[in-house]
Amino acid sequence: MKVLTTIEALRAELAPLRKQSIGLVPTMGYLHEGHLALVAAAKQANAIVVMSIFVNPTQFGPNEDFESYPRDLARDCQLAEQAGVTFVFAPNVEEMYPTQGSVVVQAGAMARELCGKSRPTHFDGVVQVVAKLFNIVQPTRAYFGQKDAQQLAIIETMVRDFNFPIEICPVAIVREADGLAKSSRNVYLTEEQRAKAPAIFKELTSIQQGQQTIAEARIAIEQATGGKIDYLTQLSYPDLADPTASTKHLVLAVAVFIGKTRLIDNIIWEVV
Ligand code: AMP
Repeated sequence: MKVLTTIEALRAELAPLRKQSIGLVPTMGYLHEGHLALVAAAKQANAIVVMSIFVNPTQFGPNEDFESYPRDLARDCQLAEQAGVTFVFAPNVEEMYPTQGSVVVQAGAMARELCGKSRPTHFDGVVQVVAKLFNIVQPTRAYFGQKDAQQLAIIETMVRDFNFPIEICPVAIVREADGLAKSSRNVYLTEEQRAKAPAIFKELTSIQQGQQTIAEARIAIEQATGGKIDYLTQLSYPDLADPTASTKHLVLAVAVFIGKTRLIDNIIWEVV
């Protein structure tokens, strides 16, 4: 496995390999088994796997955790190599954003739902960095987790709207044994908060199974975790609109602040 920090070096490595399939796994690092599931899916379908590791400043709001976001490139590279990644692309901020940039990609109406309500600029930053990574790597396929269901839906829309010749491949959420969705941000939780956090998925599941209403689950999650719900909503998926009689897939999505840590989770399912 090679670790490249410049666009030029990565492109030079990829140039002679372009006849082979390339799978891209975009991440912000601090890898866990969720990320590694994306690598496994990418390895299965592609000859070359590129993992990007970049904590993208443009997708963080002014009072968010960009500075404190956990980082450990040496450990990430070890895990990536064990998982079979071919190239890690780990640029710094100057490499990705040498200028302010005056042409922007905007995420559109879907970015105003769910996380967009409390993170109004987040998805503009996401589509900006993902569009750049798509142009830098020019992968055959790109892998995204359903953990970030709204991000996945917006990227699928961007690929369609901007004609990126890339297949977007969704990967199911990887969870801890107690149901908590794996996340780099779980390390922020105190032992006590971590012990309470599985209530999020437990209550989501019970709404999905018709055992309680969203309003009841909202109270149950706040009581069980000591946290504060940012949103708990059900929308059609992947268009993120209010469900109608013809809706085929639903997403039940939640964001909860436990102390300062904001955790998200969701269940996507087919209406029968
Ligand atoms: P991040 O490093 O948090 O930006 O995540 C990078 C990619 O890994 C995104 O496509 C995420 O949706 C995906 N991902 C993160 N956590 C999980 C998880 N628990 N299960 C599946 N995919 C995940």
